[in-house]
Amino acid sequence: MPTTVQQQAYLDAMGIQRWARRPLGEAGSSADVAARTGAESGATRSTGGAGLDWPSLKESVQGCTRCVLHQSRAQTVFGVGNESADWMVVGEAPGAEEDRQGEPFVGRAGQLLNAMLQAIGLRRDAVYIANILKCRPPNNRDPRPEEVVCCEPYLQRQVELVAPRLILAVGRVAAQNLLKTDAPLGRLRGRVHSYGTAGTPVVVTYHPAYLLRSPAEKRKAWQDLLMARRLLAEPQGNDGVATTSRR
Ligand code: URA
Repeated sequence: MPTTVQQQAYLDAMGIQRWARRPLGEAGSSADVAARTGAESGATRSTGGAGLDWPSLKESVQGCTRCVLHQSRAQTVFGVGNESADWMVVGEAPGAEEDRQGEPFVGRAGQLLNAMLQAIGLRRDAVYIANILKCRPPNNRDPRPEEVVCCEPYLQRQVELVAPRLILAVGRVAAQNLLKTDAPLGRLRGRVHSYGTAGTPVVVTYHPAYLLRSPAEKRKAWQDLLMARRLLAEPQGNDGVATTSRR
């Protein structure tokens, strides 16, 4: 696929060098090197979100007082984007900026997430973005298990309603909680997992906040994105896709 000027700018933002086909006659010109770059190669105590439609689910999240986080939040951060998206991005929890604006991934990490999506040809508003938690943990501490349990049915229902073809889990907390595993992120990357009774394919990558701190890892994140994009390019059916099952 040719790279547009805009996509190139986003690739640059990600620190990704895209290989260009050399003119005929130069060494290696017969191979499209880009095509060979590696991996291109809860329910709660109550009913939670079960069975709710979008307006009721949003209302339910807005008024949620199930865990202590409601006491310190400025507002809930429900989720945003295309409610019929093929791609659903799941992050950890709102940070300070998200808590202020009521929208996921709007801070610096969000800008990098947008760039990552653009780099694979996806506009932010083409995907659906949500978090494991709908309320900001104080000082951005890790979500506590009981908070995840309280919030889980909301995300489960969001996934049911969007019915994405793929979930991109960004970061350890999102990946471990979606997949119900303690495995480190490095072991979860590079293969396709599955989520929920529908067996939605899950691809795991680094959290953009981590990539801001460790830009050298952006190349691996790019490989993850390419793997996810390739998966969606495959005919539907996903035979043999799931290697880790949640249930
Ligand atoms: N980090 C996340 O995981 N989610 C957000 O919404 C913002 C930052």
